[in-house]
Amino acid sequence: MSLALSELKRNKAYLLGVLGVDKAGQHVKCPFHDDTHGSLAIFQSEDGVWRWKCHGCDQGGSVIDAAILAYNAKGAKDAVRAIEGNLGLKIFRDEAPAVPVIDMARAEAAVTRAHADLLDSFDAMALLEEKRNITGIETIKRFRLGYLDNASFPEYSSWSFTGWMLPVTDKHGRLVAVKVHSESRHGKDWRATKNMPKCLWAPFGTHVPPGAKKPLHGWSTLWPGPEGCEGGPLLLTGGELKAIRLCDAGHHATAPTAGENKMPPHLINRIKAAKPSEVFVVFDADPAGESWRDKMIKHLGQVGIPCSAIDLTGNIPSPADLDAEWKTAATRELQSAEETIIEIERTEEMLKSAPENMAPKLAAQHAKLVRTLEAFYEG
Ligand SMILES: [Zn+2]
Repeated sequence: MSLALSELKRNKAYLLGVLGVDKAGQHVKCPFHDDTHGSLAIFQSEDGVWRWKCHGCDQGGSVIDAAILAYNAKGAKDAVRAIEGNLGLKIFRDEAPAVPVIDMARAEAAVTRAHADLLDSFDAMALLEEKRNITGIETIKRFRLGYLDNASFPEYSSWSFTGWMLPVTDKHGRLVAVKVHSESRHGKDWRATKNMPKCLWAPFGTHVPPGAKKPLHGWSTLWPGPEGCEGGPLLLTGGELKAIRLCDAGHHATAPTAGENKMPPHLINRIKAAKPSEVFVVFDADPAGESWRDKMIKHLGQVGIPCSAIDLTGNIPSPADLDAEWKTAATRELQSAEETIIEIERTEEMLKSAPENMAPKLAAQHAKLVRTLEAFYEG
């Protein structure tokens, strides 16, 4: 039997079928947790869609959300496939995918609340130190880190998150999106299913990028931004929380928000525009980390940014150590500039008394040395 997606969501029988319960209404036994109280409510909302909401395990949504849990599906698409298989239906899409809501006021409110929750909770602060090595109150305030305690985004998914809320800002400090990283607590796996993502973009952090028609959940940018490192070293790492940990240790650090493998040219150019003296690629010593390190060094090198790598499993050098290392390199270069000046002077002397057949060669050598010196002072 062929059925429109809009019909599927408005049909009570299919929702009951997926949930495996025999009646709608209040006080239904929830199939997704050990429910002795009848915590589940099944009801039809104003738009005609049949929905469910459990007050015990705090999960809910439409038939699609029910199928994600019931069939252990990876997402909406996978859930529709599973419904087709289990209920013997062929489902076709007759409505456009839901456009994410742009609601920056709500995003701001959530970021502010989660930030206050983190600062108020000794427990959450201890967890942040234990798991992410971030201890500085000033760092937490500067980046407005937040804590979520089993919070969910019901409009978006039925998953509940415990972990960190990151207000991702653009280079002007404006909030552009909100990212959530989950965290395990007391050795307990927080994930409802093993397909649950480790991080996601909170739905209210969406916005319409300049020139685009549709809002985006996520935002491919660098956060924390690389700006402000001018003349000094910049540390580039694969995750925002790792970068914040490095900032907390006094470094300038940045990370791509769309994941390790999303470093498009505009982000590389933004690093270049921030004028670091050198970029240190901070990587995990595993095959994925090493591959990212090699890729980054290649891309940064292609635009002429001097770079080297730091293994994240070792001790990260202090800002003073990095500075000393950079100064040593700069001194080495300065010595070679002095050597170049001496060589230029020597060539000029030789040119004065050089035989005619030697003069063009010496002149060319002189010009080359002058170019080397100019390049040094420009760079
Ligand atoms: Zn439940």
